[in-house]
Order: sequence, then C-alpha cells, then structure tokens
Amino acid sequence: MQTQPYLITGPCSAESEEQVFKTAQELLALNCVDLFRAGVFKPRTRPGNFEGNAEAALEWLKNIQTQLNLPTCTEVATPKHVESTLKYNITSLWIGTRTTASPFAIQELAQSLKGTQTQVLIKNPINPDINLWIGAIERFLATAPSVKLSLIHRGFSVYPKSTYRYEPIWEIAQKIKQEFPELKLYNDPSHMAGDRTLLKEIVQKAKSLDLYDGYMIETHLNPEKALTDQAQQITPDQLKELDLR
Ligand code: PEP
Ligand code: MN
Repeated sequence: MQTQPYLITGPCSAESEEQVFKTAQELLALNCVDLFRAGVFKPRTRPGNFEGNAEAALEWLKNIQTQLNLPTCTEVATPKHVESTLKYNITSLWIGTRTTASPFAIQELAQSLKGTQTQVLIKNPINPDINLWIGAIERFLATAPSVKLSLIHRGFSVYPKSTYRYEPIWEIAQKIKQEFPELKLYNDPSHMAGDRTLLKEIVQKAKSLDLYDGYMIETHLNPEKALTDQAQQITPDQLKELDLR
C-alpha cells in the first residue's frame, strides 16, 4: 500500500449545513481528509427513520467543494439521485451495499452515468456473493467506461452474526483485488465493525493484508447524537488514534 492511504471520511449522514461544514473544517485542520463523505439519500433497512436531507444537503456539499476546496462524495441508488448529484457537481458517488446486490439497479445507474468522468465507488454487495460485486463492476466497465471506478470493502451480512456488524470475509477482498488489480480498493471499517471500539482492530488487520489503497471511515462531531449509525462513528480527533498512516 502507498505510505499515505487515501482517506474518505465525514459523517454517515449530512444532518445540517453547520454539521457538515464544521466537520469538514475540522478534518482539513487535522490534515485527515482526501474526500469528504456524507449521505444525503439514506437507504434505511426499515422505514420510519431519518432518510437524509436529499437535495438540500447536496447544496451543502457543493458549498464545501467550492468554499473549502474539498471534493465530496455521497451515495446514489437511483438515476434520479444521479441526476441530482450531477446538477450539484458532486465530485464522487458511492453505490451502497444494498444497491450493488441488484443487477437492474446497477444497470440503470451505469446508464445514467454513461459519458461522465465521475468517480464511482462500488461497495461490496450485502451478501457474500463475489459474483454480484464482479457483475456490478463489469456492468459499469461495459456501459459507462469513462467513469473512474474504485471499490469499497465494507463487509457482508451473515447469519448468525458474529463479533462484527458485518463480517469482513477478507478472502473476498483478496479475490476482488486479484480480479481487478487496476482498481483502487478501500476498506470501510466503520460499517464492518458497527461499533467504534472495534474499529482499530479492523484497521490493524486491513493494514496487515497490504491490500488496500485507503479507508472510508465515518466521523461525527458528536457521535452519540448522530441520526444514523450512531454506535460506529468517531470524532475527527479519534482518527489519529486509529494509526492509519
Ligand atoms: C454508508 O456509507 O453510510 C452506507 C449506508 O453504506 P453501506 O451501503 O455500506 O451500508
Ligand atoms: Mn453509515
């Protein structure tokens, strides 16, 4: 791995303009961010929870890009989401784990990004089926070859659950890297762990594999009060303790 891993960080969700701005400023001051992340369309497993601030929050991300000169990324799951993010010139998009598992959704997303140079980060599918991940990559390569593709390993849903919220199954990350050695691969210990006290051991394991080009890690100014993924977010200050670099 390169000595300075690429760091994608920011809150799980964009909750307010003040929250995203202050977080981005703090991360920049700590020299701890390459790409700022914040979800604006939140794929909740069950309805009735906070589902994101949608287009209002895209305006905040656009302002972070122009005023702080920091590129941003957010999740897209439908062509309508893509249309909105392109309108606000959001630099990078990630495809969430539940979406990667759906070939129809992936095909539509690839079609909607055809001809653009957007950076697209494809998370692993929620179930441990490497072919769904490979298929999603192949669909993008065939339909939208101009996009800049990268991959995020965020762990898999298994039953019964073990220590982690989502099982890493490191072998799948090793295999995807063998299949697509030219694509950057990032590790997302936040969603794997589901618990901030387990982040460090996952990072240490990820580092030891010499497989990843960087990390996606959720940071929140006040993790206890986060509207989504409360248990796994850390403060920007705590990033240093993870010993990523
Ligand atoms: C996220 O990154 O906040 C998210 C919802 O991701 P995933 O698709 O990995 O659950
Ligand atoms: Mn999250």
